[in-house]
Amino acid sequence: MAIVELHDRCPWCGARIDLTLDENAPEDDLLEECPHCGRPVDVQLRLDGNGCPVDVEIRRDDGSSG
Ligand SMILES: [Zn+2]
Repeated sequence: MAIVELHDRCPWCGARIDLTLDENAPEDDLLEECPHCGRPVDVQLRLDGNGCPVDVEIRRDDGSSG
């Protein structure tokens, strides 16, 4: 099973976020929670044809009601 480890910064508090995704993770949209501030972050992961990550973008999860 392919395991993808991602390291980026929280768009809210700037703390480092470590994500571990397996190959079963959806490619287009993920919703994670920052372990530091608890705010939702939207993770967009792009994979190539072999399932290798070619680009990742982490941004604030906006537009949700609440
Ligand atoms: Zn945070």
